[in-house]
Amino acid sequence: MSRIVYVNGEYVPEEEARISVFDRGFLMADGVYEVTSVLKGKLIDFAGHAKRLERSLNELDMAAPCTTDELLEIHRELVARNAVTEGLVYLQVTRGVADRDFAYPKDTTPTLVLFTQHKTVVESPAASTGIKVISIEDQRWGRRDIKTVQLLYPAMGKMMAKAAGCDDAWMVEEGAVTEGTSNNAYIIKNGRIITRQLSNDILHGITRAAVLKFAEEAQMVVEERPFTIAEAQGADEAFITSATTFVQPVVSIDGVEIGSGAPGPLALRLREIYVDQSRKQAI
Ligand code: PMP
Repeated sequence: MSRIVYVNGEYVPEEEARISVFDRGFLMADGVYEVTSVLKGKLIDFAGHAKRLERSLNELDMAAPCTTDELLEIHRELVARNAVTEGLVYLQVTRGVADRDFAYPKDTTPTLVLFTQHKTVVESPAASTGIKVISIEDQRWGRRDIKTVQLLYPAMGKMMAKAAGCDDAWMVEEGAVTEGTSNNAYIIKNGRIITRQLSNDILHGITRAAVLKFAEEAQMVVEERPFTIAEAQGADEAFITSATTFVQPVVSIDGVEIGSGAPGPLALRLREIYVDQSRKQAI
């Protein structure tokens, strides 16, 4: 069944959606994006995603295509038109259309595209089995805090993981884990949750912020600092977070089982809290 997608002010069937070949998103990956999960037809942490979008746009001197209220309206309209009960809304803003030139063109109109995807997010099999990760060098650019559409290295990382019979990759820079290819990375040792501190080296995950807040409210201790693959392999538990995976246990790293080799109790508890709270706070 064809979806209704949103392109620059219009709701159109996906087959009729058009973007210019001169769009800088296409030519130069000059664009940013957000992914917001949908549960029971409602948006999870829309405010967090809208705020990070604004930050990404500001960092790149890119004009906002519309107000946050208008964005919320478009999200809701697409969820309704496509009858999404569980899944996601993908949003992309690019600098717009101009003759090819490295310098930012002046006064282009930003391109705004949104579409939905149906996806089982709560009862995903990986949540109960956990995932296996490999480690790879982090060879991305140095502004990973900006959520740009230049996702080729993360895509390569996922393929390397697949070739190794695993599910994902954790990226390592100067001996320490930065993050997963499309998620933030955590380990748990002696009840303490350890995850890399925020900087330009990682994406400031919206799920990360929510999960750390819930962890502290549940009296869990959070330590924001770098950790190595060796430390992770010796941890009691490991997990990842992202908007579409929520909290997902990691059961092995580079072939070494973490803890018992099964999803850990704290990671599963955090997932439960996150799903519960998200259901309550979804809009
Ligand atoms: N790090 C990277 C590199 C990502 O691509 C993502 C998801 N887009 C995340 C972390 C998690 O961010 P969020 O919780 O906002 O989905």
